[in-house]
Amino acid sequence: MAIADRPSTKFEPWKDPQARPIIDIVHVSKAFDGFPAVNNISLQIFPGEFFSLLGASGCGKTTLLRSLAGFEIPTSGKIFIDGINMTNVEPYNRPVNMMFQSYALFPHMTVEQNIAFGLKQQNMPASDIRDRVISMLELVHLRKYARRKPQQLSGGQRQRVALARSLAKQPRVLLLDEPLGALDRKLREQTQFELVNIQETLGVTFIMVTHDQEEAMTMSTRIGVMEEGRIRQVGTPTEIYEYPSSRFVADFIGEMNIFEGFVTEDEPDHVSIKSEEAGCDLYVTHSSSAPVGAQVAVAIRPEKVMITKESVQKERNCCKGIVTEIAYLGDVSIYHVELKSGKKILSTVTNQVRLTERPINWDDEVYLHWRPESGVVLTS
Ligand code: ATP
Repeated sequence: MAIADRPSTKFEPWKDPQARPIIDIVHVSKAFDGFPAVNNISLQIFPGEFFSLLGASGCGKTTLLRSLAGFEIPTSGKIFIDGINMTNVEPYNRPVNMMFQSYALFPHMTVEQNIAFGLKQQNMPASDIRDRVISMLELVHLRKYARRKPQQLSGGQRQRVALARSLAKQPRVLLLDEPLGALDRKLREQTQFELVNIQETLGVTFIMVTHDQEEAMTMSTRIGVMEEGRIRQVGTPTEIYEYPSSRFVADFIGEMNIFEGFVTEDEPDHVSIKSEEAGCDLYVTHSSSAPVGAQVAVAIRPEKVMITKESVQKERNCCKGIVTEIAYLGDVSIYHVELKSGKKILSTVTNQVRLTERPINWDDEVYLHWRPESGVVLTS
């Protein structure tokens, strides 16, 4: 899975107690006919962030985004933008702009007229509009398409016009609802990087709604993982991937092996867990808030599970099973292994050399093992 690796990894305003958020969502709920689409969310987003709201369909991410734009009024709670309470502020008076998935371009207008539209409505002087439109066209590399109509453009070009139009008014915050949803996979990947470059160039705060985890991982400074109207975890892509805080987040992001078990030893530097499912004791080198006897889960990513036919003499973090499936994906192979307990475990192996004959085959008995620092104890 691709994880954001941008120069801005040192950019961590959320860790600075002095930093002032540009968006401060305080106990916001939004119900439709009594149904809580957004349920008591509190969240701070800082200037210059590329923040993604990630979750399955219907989890409430669009409703939260629309509440920031002012298209939905929260049932309770407050939203502050740049320190100002937005509760009674109309959408067009908020320092935010929203880019819709459908792009909503005017079909009868040229690219430059589309970009200029909002500026004309603001009564900006014509010469300033011209300059702004040119700089926006340059930003999205569309200067030579200025006179075309939207239907004369490709999907990716239309997406860039929509982006230029929504940035033309220089909003403090740009809200993006599935901005790459209409693009095919290849163009999507290319556009992800362009969007991040533009965001970094302008320093505008971006808040994006997506159900695509790879997209969120690649582009975001931080991600808020949502489930049923609530935010389950907020963190950097690495934190969300490496240190999920619950079974839900662990399972939602990428592939994960999850063993259920009971704590037998809880020390500041390690936790031991007895797991019938694993058929071995699990040992994890971090502390846990769970007391001895508590039921917990241990999560281990498939790429951290090593697989071998040779016997492994380890008392902990090692189990035996039978290969039931092998998925060859070119760059990696994913081995599905069934343990004696019936539990199925995945192990991902990088194909470093060209395979003529597979060293591990279907029905082979194999040993799976991993390092003590590879597991994460989940208490919820
Ligand atoms: P998707 O990815 O499918 O767009 P989402 O996470 O953005 O989903 P929302 O559009 O925020 O989800 O919807 C959250 C819940 O609120 C859904 O169950 C939806 O049916 C409901 N909902 C959204 N808007 C309305 C509305 N105007 N009236 C009634 N229910 C609504």
